[in-house]
Amino acid sequence: MSTTQCNECGTEIPDNIDRDLNGQQCAECERESIISIAGVTSSPWPADEASSLRSSARNCWQHYDYPHRKDVDNCGACALEAMSDTEPPNYAGWLRIYLELGRAIPRQHYHAEMEYAERENPRYRDAIMRDIATYGLRWA
Ligand SMILES: [Zn+2]
Ligand SMILES: [Zn+2]
Repeated sequence: MSTTQCNECGTEIPDNIDRDLNGQQCAECERESIISIAGVTSSPWPADEASSLRSSARNCWQHYDYPHRKDVDNCGACALEAMSDTEPPNYAGWLRIYLELGRAIPRQHYHAEMEYAERENPRYRDAIMRDIATYGLRWA
C-alpha cells in the first residue's frame, strides 16, 4: 500500500484513507483546520442558544423503544446510532445532533454530509459551521 505525507505535519497517511481529500492532510491536521476555518467564518451560538440546542439534541437521542430493541424505523435514537462505514445515520440533520452532543463523527460521513449541505442546503451548512465553532469536532 502506498502512502502520502501530510502537507502540514509530514505524517505518513495511507492513500486509501485520504484518497478523496484535496488537501492531503492527516486526520488530525484536517480536524484542526476545519475547526479554525469555522472559528474564522462562523460565530459560535450565543450561550443560551447553545445550551438549548444541546438539550434538543439530547432529546433526539432518547430511546423510545425501552427496553432497547434497536428499532431503527420508529426510534430516532436507534436511527442516529445505526450506521456502517459506508452509510451515515438515516436521520435528517444527524451531523448537527452529533456535533451538539460532542459525539465522535466518522470522517467519511462528515465529508459526505458537508458535500450535500454545500450543494443543497446552505443554511444547514452554515448551521453546521456554527456548531463546529461552538462545540468543536471530534473524529470517530
Ligand atoms: Zn498532519
Ligand atoms: Zn432506540
